Amino acid sequence: MNVPPQRQPSVPSEPAPCPACGARLGGRAGCQAAFDALCAASWASPARGAVHNLLVDAYCMQHPEDYCRSAKSYAAHLTGLSCGLEAGGDSRLYWAVARWLDGSQEVTKPALAATGARGAVTVASAVACADDAHYTVVVRAWAATVWEAYREQHDLARGWRMAAAAATRDANSGAGARR
Ligand SMILES: [Zn+2]
Repeated sequence: MNVPPQRQPSVPSEPAPCPACGARLGGRAGCQAAFDALCAASWASPARGAVHNLLVDAYCMQHPEDYCRSAKSYAAHLTGLSCGLEAGGDSRLYWAVARWLDGSQEVTKPALAATGARGAVTVASAVACADDAHYTVVVRAWAATVWEAYREQHDLARGWRMAAAAATRDANSGAGARR
């Protein structure tokens, strides 16, 4: 008579960490799925929508291999954190940065922050939020830790932000003069 082998007691194993940010949501794919779901939720709630730019810029600066391949996309997300955290999240400023980078403006991409040094808070913290009010607080805190991780590039980002604002002012005053 065959004796069935004894089963191993099942040990709940932690999901694999994301190689880019360290979130334990099931590797890079699980991390991406969590981010995509949060982006979708931004459209369903004005409170979540208000921190959508911070969500995107924080996530992208923690996954620069995927989202910051070009110097301009890197500049857009890093400068976006400066707009959101240091300039009140003014939507006109975000547009100014996008328009400035859309032009012939040349930017140089700095070295990426090493994996493991991109901020201790990750998308996993935002996923864990049950209500919108808590979510907005967590996303702001998350974005602040990512911004802090890129401390050596703050002056660079502020320079880009101010150049974009100045270029927009010049364009607007030029248009006004022609009228
Ligand atoms: Zn990740």
